[in-house]
Amino acid sequence: MKLLIFAYTTDGNIPRSDLEIISHSKDISQEVHLVTNMPLNATIKGVNKIITPSGRLDQDCFSKFIEMIFKKDDYAHIVGKSDIVGKEIASSLSANLNMEYVNEIQEFENKDKLIVIRDFFTGKLSGRIEINSKSILLLKFNTHPINESDTVPVVESLEFNCSSNKKLLSRIITTGNKPPLESSQIVVSGGRGLESKENYAYVEKLAELLGAATGASRAIVDLGWVPQTYQVGQTGKIIAPNLYIAIGISGAVQHLAGIRNAKKIIAINKDPNAPIFKYADYGVVADFKEFLPILIKKLEAMKK
Ligand SMILES: Cc1cc2nc3c(=O)[nH]c(=O)nc-3n(C[C@H](O)[C@H](O)[C@H](O)COP(=O)(O)OP(=O)(O)OC[C@H]3O[C@@H](n4cnc5c(N)ncnc54)[C@H](O)[C@@H]3O)c2cc1C
Repeated sequence: MKLLIFAYTTDGNIPRSDLEIISHSKDISQEVHLVTNMPLNATIKGVNKIITPSGRLDQDCFSKFIEMIFKKDDYAHIVGKSDIVGKEIASSLSANLNMEYVNEIQEFENKDKLIVIRDFFTGKLSGRIEINSKSILLLKFNTHPINESDTVPVVESLEFNCSSNKKLLSRIITTGNKPPLESSQIVVSGGRGLESKENYAYVEKLAELLGAATGASRAIVDLGWVPQTYQVGQTGKIIAPNLYIAIGISGAVQHLAGIRNAKKIIAINKDPNAPIFKYADYGVVADFKEFLPILIKKLEAMKK
């Protein structure tokens, strides 16, 4: 089975999460080709072929580029990452190529037939779907290891003329010096229990001391306290840090869906009956305004 994996990059580097998709795809396929939206800064081991356009393509043109590559060869399926960009590209591929599309896949299983495993109803049910025709398959990330590989790919650069109705006006990098939320080993998140936008500074401070990324519940994204890129959960980012610290977050299923793969969870909540405590490894029943200044002071002292 030959797979075509697509990866979108903003700077010519393939993110770790896409390497994970490649690695898991290799568990079910002997031949894996990678198509990207721009030339890469460095080659990626583990794929048999890398196909890039000679210049940078926006999302719309990238989708058309993938379409062209897919039609040129006998690929079994198109595989990508189940994030916002992946879902947008997959939707247009699905419509234009008239192919079925399954997203949020947790695992591939290849026995006699390809089976994909994914959750339904925010993890209440797990389903196995048999794939019987050429399909577009989007995998969740932060769920699989990246296996080392010696396979060195052939690299093909293609001229591709495409005009898009959209024009990129600006690119906003929101992470600054902080580690990216998707791949950070420690994440500190805040929720509505923080009581005000200003109090998110506690989250920032703790994260800075721990070298952590900052996240949020949807409640405070909706309140406009932090940007949507901070949101952790079913409709936000799915993360798998070694340590997740949830401050003033109740533990709604939609939030928990984003942290299921966290290795350790610490919850700080003033309500001893908050659902997050059923899920956390360690719980602190306290008002964050009393507890965090003490914790921050201790960490600052340890840093000196
Ligand atoms: C389709 C759908 C998708 C969704 N997707 C997401 C998603 O991706 N991510 C997500 O997070 N949510 C998502 N939600 C929303 C989710 O259902 C919850 O509403 C949301 O997670 C609640 O956010 P919260 O825990 O910050 O707020 P709340 O539920 O209001 O909890 C606040 C918590 O703070 C505690 N608290 C209050 N004051 C203090 C204090 N001083 N000190 C310490 N603790 C305090 C309270 O005891 C409470 O437990 C989704 C909902 C739907 C319907």
